[in-house]
Amino acid sequence: MKFIAKWIKSPIDTKEAAVTFKKCFSLDREVKKATLYASAIGVYVPNINGKRVGSFVMAPGFTSYKTRVQYQKYDITDMLQKNNSIEISVGQGWAVSCFGHSKCGHYFAEEVSLFAEIHITYMDGKKDIISSNEMFEVYTSSVTYSDVYNGETCDMTAPIIKLGNAVFSHVTSRLVAQVGEDVTEQERLKPVALINTPCGEKVIDFGQNMTGYVEISVKGERGAKIIIHHAEVLDKDGNFYRDNYRKAKNENTYVLSGENDVFKPKFSFQGFRYIRLTEYPFDTVDLDSFTAIAVNSNIKRTADFISGNEKINQLYHNIIWGQKSNYLDIPTDCPQRDERLGWTGDAQVFCRTAAINFDVEKFFKKWLGDVAIEQREDGAIFGIVPTGIISQVTRISAAWGDVACIAPWQIYLAYGNKKLLKEHLEMMKKWVGYMRATGEEEYLWLTGMHYGDWLAMDAGPDAYEGATSADLIASAYYAYSTELLIKACDVLGEDATEYRNLYQNIVKRFREYFMEDGMPKEILPYTEILVRGKKDPVDKYRKGITQTAIVLILHFRLCKEEERKALADKLVQLIRENGNRMTTGFVGTPYILHALSECGYSDVAYELLFQNQNPSWLYSVEHGATTMWEHWNSLKEDGTFWSTRMNSFNHYAYGAVFDWLFGVAAGIKPREDGAGYSKVDIAPHPDKRLGFAKSHIDTRCGKISVHWYYKEDTVYYEIDIPTGVEAYVTLPGESVKKLCSGKYFFAK
Ligand code: BGC
Repeated sequence: MKFIAKWIKSPIDTKEAAVTFKKCFSLDREVKKATLYASAIGVYVPNINGKRVGSFVMAPGFTSYKTRVQYQKYDITDMLQKNNSIEISVGQGWAVSCFGHSKCGHYFAEEVSLFAEIHITYMDGKKDIISSNEMFEVYTSSVTYSDVYNGETCDMTAPIIKLGNAVFSHVTSRLVAQVGEDVTEQERLKPVALINTPCGEKVIDFGQNMTGYVEISVKGERGAKIIIHHAEVLDKDGNFYRDNYRKAKNENTYVLSGENDVFKPKFSFQGFRYIRLTEYPFDTVDLDSFTAIAVNSNIKRTADFISGNEKINQLYHNIIWGQKSNYLDIPTDCPQRDERLGWTGDAQVFCRTAAINFDVEKFFKKWLGDVAIEQREDGAIFGIVPTGIISQVTRISAAWGDVACIAPWQIYLAYGNKKLLKEHLEMMKKWVGYMRATGEEEYLWLTGMHYGDWLAMDAGPDAYEGATSADLIASAYYAYSTELLIKACDVLGEDATEYRNLYQNIVKRFREYFMEDGMPKEILPYTEILVRGKKDPVDKYRKGITQTAIVLILHFRLCKEEERKALADKLVQLIRENGNRMTTGFVGTPYILHALSECGYSDVAYELLFQNQNPSWLYSVEHGATTMWEHWNSLKEDGTFWSTRMNSFNHYAYGAVFDWLFGVAAGIKPREDGAGYSKVDIAPHPDKRLGFAKSHIDTRCGKISVHWYYKEDTVYYEIDIPTGVEAYVTLPGESVKKLCSGKYFFAK
């Protein structure tokens, strides 16, 4: 699209206060069609003749601003009249807030800028363009402060002052038509309780941890003030607890106009379940005037799952809300503390589950576009995308950088879009090339600072990186990413000979270096990497025989067929020795149940699923979670919390267990030779403790559903296969049957 508009900004730096750009114009002919194109460095909210245009929240979205910024397109035909006024308010948003790991200053730009252009076609065929330039006037606004982490102040008594005419702004980001999904308001939740806490505070509980904001409708004395703070949990005494937000204040301040006011943030959002009325000008609290509004990318729900076990159903609920909360334009680690960043590892771990629950093709097209843009020349992928201006502070870590191969492949499997896979092939090749060129060993990845098996439980209670050798994890992922690259080349008809040879060499070297007699070596050589403040190299105490190491070897098939049994037995032994529990973190957890079922240990996988002692999925469920937690024990047995350094109650990574519930328990998996579910494996794994499992998915090829249930000792299966889909159905103990579309019923 060719525009004539210029980027403009305020003639006066208004710091954290939002400004309004305004232009009045008259039309003397009848309008056939009018379109507004708008973008900002910052976040913009457009209004025409006093009415909000569109419903995009946090427009223009979060991209790699260094390179590109999206613009949105709005049909405004019905909003125009003879005399018009367009007013676009712009606040700091991600680009200008003190955001990300920079923490010391603006994330990307020093001040907000606006880009806007209106295209009008009249009934008589003539055309007009109104575009942002120095004829736009700039005013102060009622939003006197906004910052993504800290929240917003809206003062309805603040005078609206003209600051002058706009001046041109030097913005180098390329304007691109919106690539991702719209971000919009979703569910509206009413309070479930008003709590007077032991320390005398008034707290409102919305019953659900979420991302968005609270809308307050009030009428009160002009100048009276409301200040609200947000929290995800109450502490063990029932008091408001927000220390885990770290430096993010999550504070919204509203100054009343004296008339009817409806307040909600325009340029920021919060992650919360509770709010505290820190300052409130009324004697009684009218709960009706408060509504929590979820704000997420407008992704369409595609799957559902229900079982005969209420706790597992609550776990699934928590996984769904974890995804919604962390899919606000980019896949984030968490939506509340001073991060909310596109951590690549978290995105990688969860993307398979994500693509079952919701249609995330467009969502990933946009974000993976930024991953590719930010990939370093040598193929390195950083821990966070978009990175802003500080990419060097994150590690280039295995399992994080591997998002470059894993996410494109999973998105291809889910939706069957070869064109998109092709778009990402270069990024996949470059990432594999990076691992290959790093360090002395061509076929292993033995250097570098990794996040390891992040937050695993086997390296002491408060350790971050887990006990599994980082070299082993890195080399295992090197093999896995190379394998996915080969698959992608095959799908796209590209020659993969080089990568096939590479893969064979990696697996060979992996086995020589990390394994002995079909088992990982207990003690491994380690790389001499020192972390600031630590005496010993980070990998010194890491081990080869851990649950995570064995899970990776099994699931990535780095062992010989005949070694699988002993490895799986060892994994079960380690689980037993740990009180029938996992020790795994971000790296091992997503695959542990898969590795067990692949080796005939679905009963043990179910045991882990039903485990309710820490660490387990049901531990958080039994402790009142409504979303996934960052740590298995974010809230400890004794009612205290994990350290405030790192304790989110809305971190979706461990929700990746859903791809086992869906793909193995219910048993629905797209086949690699039928991506997009045109060919599907249906292999349910019934278990009496689950009672029944009923799941469906709306795929590009129609709706596929599986329902199994017990009556006494007989298991009944109802399977629906849509027209045109080939299903390969394997019931327990039977050989595979190829079925075409239809409704099937089996009893066994
Ligand atoms: C984030 C994680 C992320 C990690 C890197 C944390 O601060 O919240 O989820 O992956 O850093 O290890």
